[in-house]
Amino acid sequence: MPDATHPCLRCGACCAGFRVAFHWSETDACEGGLTPTALTEPLDPHRVVMRGTYGAAPLRCEQLRGHVATDAHCGIYPLRPSPCRELKAAWEDGAPSAQCDKARIAHGMAPLTPADWRDA
Ligand code: SF4
Ligand code: SF4
Repeated sequence: MPDATHPCLRCGACCAGFRVAFHWSETDACEGGLTPTALTEPLDPHRVVMRGTYGAAPLRCEQLRGHVATDAHCGIYPLRPSPCRELKAAWEDGAPSAQCDKARIAHGMAPLTPADWRDA
């Protein structure tokens, strides 16, 4: 898990805003898969979704711990699937992130800026 000053640990918005879908082979039903199958549900013959991220709004991954916009973290961080690993926080690596911005705005937070990373 990132250290406590990481802006994502005061956010969690992307875990409560998007469908998190990925190929079933990322689950532990497949040799080498990481994400526990029990924490997912089928989406189509090839893909599963994290429970809580599919269906009627509001969406919230069941593995999100804490409170969005205050203190939030992933309960299965080492086992999270590829969409979670690939969604970059805006400016963490010096680049914008439209998904991060969209999620934060939807939860009433300002988009991150490079200044948010100075002490992270
Ligand atoms: S919306 Fe952005 S800042 Fe918030 S948890 Fe996701 S990546 Fe991190
Ligand atoms: S698995 Fe973890 S990182 Fe991915 S959406 Fe759920 S709480 Fe967020």
